[in-house]
Amino acid sequence: MIAENTLDATMAMVKKTMNLENLENENANLAEQVFSARNVRVANNVTKQYAMDELLSGDVRRAFQDNWIYIHDFNAYASGNHNCLTLDLAEVLKSGFKTNNADIREPNSISSAMQLTAVIMQCQSNLQFGGIAAGTLDIDLAPFVEKSFANYYREGMNYIYEIQSADEPVHFLNNKSDYPSDHPYRKACDYAWDKTVEETHQGAEAMIHNLNSLQSRAADQLPFTSINYGTDTSPCGRLVTKSILNATMEGIGKHHLTPIFPVQVFQYFKGINDRPGTPNYDLFRLAMKCSALRMFPNYANCTASYFKKPTCKEEIFNTMGCRTQISDDRFGIKGNQGRGNISPVTINLAKIGIENGICLDKRVKPDIDGFWSTLDRILQITAKALVERFDYQGRQPAKSAPFMYENQLMKGRKLSADEPVREVLKHGTLAIGLIGLANCMSAMFGKHQFEDEDVWNFAYSVYQHVADFKNAMSEKYDLNFSVYSTPAENCCYSINQRLVREYGEIKGVTDRGYLTNSFHCPVWYPISAEEKIRKEAPFHKLSRGGAITYVEVDSSTQHNIPAMEQLVNDAMAHDISYFAMNVQIDTCRSCSYQGLIDHTCPKCGSSDIERLRRITGYLTGSVERMNIGKQKEVADRVKHTGRGHILFDWRD
Ligand SMILES: [Zn+2]
Repeated sequence: MIAENTLDATMAMVKKTMNLENLENENANLAEQVFSARNVRVANNVTKQYAMDELLSGDVRRAFQDNWIYIHDFNAYASGNHNCLTLDLAEVLKSGFKTNNADIREPNSISSAMQLTAVIMQCQSNLQFGGIAAGTLDIDLAPFVEKSFANYYREGMNYIYEIQSADEPVHFLNNKSDYPSDHPYRKACDYAWDKTVEETHQGAEAMIHNLNSLQSRAADQLPFTSINYGTDTSPCGRLVTKSILNATMEGIGKHHLTPIFPVQVFQYFKGINDRPGTPNYDLFRLAMKCSALRMFPNYANCTASYFKKPTCKEEIFNTMGCRTQISDDRFGIKGNQGRGNISPVTINLAKIGIENGICLDKRVKPDIDGFWSTLDRILQITAKALVERFDYQGRQPAKSAPFMYENQLMKGRKLSADEPVREVLKHGTLAIGLIGLANCMSAMFGKHQFEDEDVWNFAYSVYQHVADFKNAMSEKYDLNFSVYSTPAENCCYSINQRLVREYGEIKGVTDRGYLTNSFHCPVWYPISAEEKIRKEAPFHKLSRGGAITYVEVDSSTQHNIPAMEQLVNDAMAHDISYFAMNVQIDTCRSCSYQGLIDHTCPKCGSSDIERLRRITGYLTGSVERMNIGKQKEVADRVKHTGRGHILFDWRD
């Protein structure tokens, strides 16, 4: 029975939410004011309270309430679902799948395969609170290009030559001119080739349109989708990659706006696409042209020194667009396809720094011993928080997510409807997240790790320590722990706000309105791209649960492909696992003009401007949909390609 005062408070919350009096912009992808979102927000408030009171153990609850740790997607805690999944798309398409009302068979053409890809992503998205990715989209979809080609070739033979079946199979080739000129059915080849290219391009357009309009969950959310591609050197796989890049560059709708989803990741692979003479180098060049125009794709470093050589497509390195990566499975599934992250818990490094550093003027020298013992205490609680949530998630019956478990999207073994999902879920990862390393260093030493080599060394030893701890926990609990460099879309703001409430605004530590992401260089700190890459790169090797390095690119680099290429090559050579270039994309909503727009459109004078910026690896519709912390962060960003000078700030 709910106590009466609790009930009053709940009703007051319902009233506020329904009257739109407490909008927070917590998540840039979610429209809080729409009908379904109001219901969801009311439910979230209640289930969060339930999880806090009933599901967390005492020390975990205290650490969360005292702002030492942040339990992500806490509103989803009580229902017991998990975070994200990387699809083995080839497998799902080949075996077909079941939904509530339908039994879908293997598609027979590239356009149906692309359509079904969007459907699968949407269905799965409803069953989890995070993103859904395709790990090798080009490899997975290539067989369907061949199927389309075969269909058209048969058609051509039938209509042009009146022959019902061909003696020898003819395959899709890179160029029409690759078919011998004396081929007996040359016209059928040409016809099939043209139709296949056209169909694949239209399929790519439709897939991108679908992933930007199919809603999932409540509140107008789009599924958080990511696709990885670029390593398939077969003519069919290459056509998939090329068609997606071209469709992305075209943009969506009347104003040719930049597609926000799927997040696209080009898989940079030495010897396959990295330099002139490699088979997919032309696609790498096309990818950079696309990045300059549309911010995507980002770049995954498949041949980083710490990755072993892939023995199958599942082992080719790929990532969730937001940066979450699924590290190796101690239970033997190869690669990350059919596996996901189960949940992340992030450690507030800034607070550990404030408590043990010089920033509060309580001590002259930082308390190094105190720092390590606080960190160890919080690490233990973090591991406990992850394991107790995992145990709760693992007890849920498979019937809670029929689409995922019946179709075995999450690999492992087939579960019966009432069986608990733990045996399958254990192949996923438990992520120990880190936020505010730079804030922590400033609190400890008065300087962050990009200002001083000794501080950098200390910062690195913190990450190394967490990586060692992660290994120990994986052994202790027999689960896949990982280290996660937290993107922190909404917690960068809320955690900082709470620090300000507790300690006041501390210069250089909490005075920016947000915490700095993971190990990143503070966005306002002037630094060249080269230096940023060199100093952030070593942290990637330690963040096998995911990391990203961004460079803010000025407009002269944006329009200079060789300069972009040099930047990507440099990042990859330094062993950055996942790299992205932030460009400015302003679009006039009245006349579709695109380019840098200060206040009003230079072409038509309108002030209705969409300003697309990246947050946490995803793009957001426009800056005004971000939370206040992120808006401040975007306003603070300085360019990195101008040797550290502030070249442009959209608010100036
Ligand atoms: Zn205009």
